[in-house]
Amino acid sequence: MKRWSWLAFGVAFGALFVAERRRPLRRQAEPGPERVGRNLVIGLLAGATTAASELPIVAPMQALAERGRMGLLRRLPLPRALRVVVGFLLLDYTLYLWHWLNHRSPFLWRFHAVHHVDLDLDTTTGLRFHAGELAMAAGFRALQVLMLGVDRETLRLWQQMLFLSIVFHHSNLELPIEVEQRLNAMVVTPRMHGIHHSTRPEETDSNYSSLLSCWDRLHRSLRLDVPQASVTIGVDGFSTPEDVTLERSLTLPFREDPRLLPPANAALRHTSV
Ligand SMILES: [Zn+2]
Repeated sequence: MKRWSWLAFGVAFGALFVAERRRPLRRQAEPGPERVGRNLVIGLLAGATTAASELPIVAPMQALAERGRMGLLRRLPLPRALRVVVGFLLLDYTLYLWHWLNHRSPFLWRFHAVHHVDLDLDTTTGLRFHAGELAMAAGFRALQVLMLGVDRETLRLWQQMLFLSIVFHHSNLELPIEVEQRLNAMVVTPRMHGIHHSTRPEETDSNYSSLLSCWDRLHRSLRLDVPQASVTIGVDGFSTPEDVTLERSLTLPFREDPRLLPPANAALRHTSV
């Protein structure tokens, strides 16, 4: 990302961080600076990993795809503006599929669970991704670039919008319900994503979109019928701050832990008992 977009991201993050403390949507289970500090450390490691893996993985793949005129969009005779729009939509849709897969594959879930075990949901959760998840996401991004044939400008535009969206929909900001409903017709909003972070498997297995909300409508995985007051944020079995310390969060993917089943499998386990 260019310097000005980092600045825009920093300003948006700061403004939402302040706003969500003034108008909280959900009551916090672990208030205080410790959780925020922990999420920032995990986020810094994640950011460093993304920066370190985009350069050797995504950029060469982009160059290779451009040189060889590879990927779906380079084969379609589309005008430039339409190519950008279709590229943007395809990047966002394939990210929906990647997120869904993170909830289905036991291996990927071990890493994605580090994001979900946070006992609260706010702007800092939007930074809290395990470095391993983001390294794999960089590999997936390289695949997107190669298969879809999106150019660097479209990729950059989508990534910038995605970063802003991630910080926004993870925030604990209570928006007036009519405002949220209007925004939700287009993009993912805090109430919608709050349901995805519920400890109940049937609620976690919904709302996988990350920027445009239409993918959940398309796949009938949209849920807006759960009031935030009845949502408990986190992963079933990880309910205390001791379960999610910095050390325990970073080592979570590598531990043998029966609580680390993907939510869909956990739901099956519950129904079969
Ligand atoms: Zn998720």
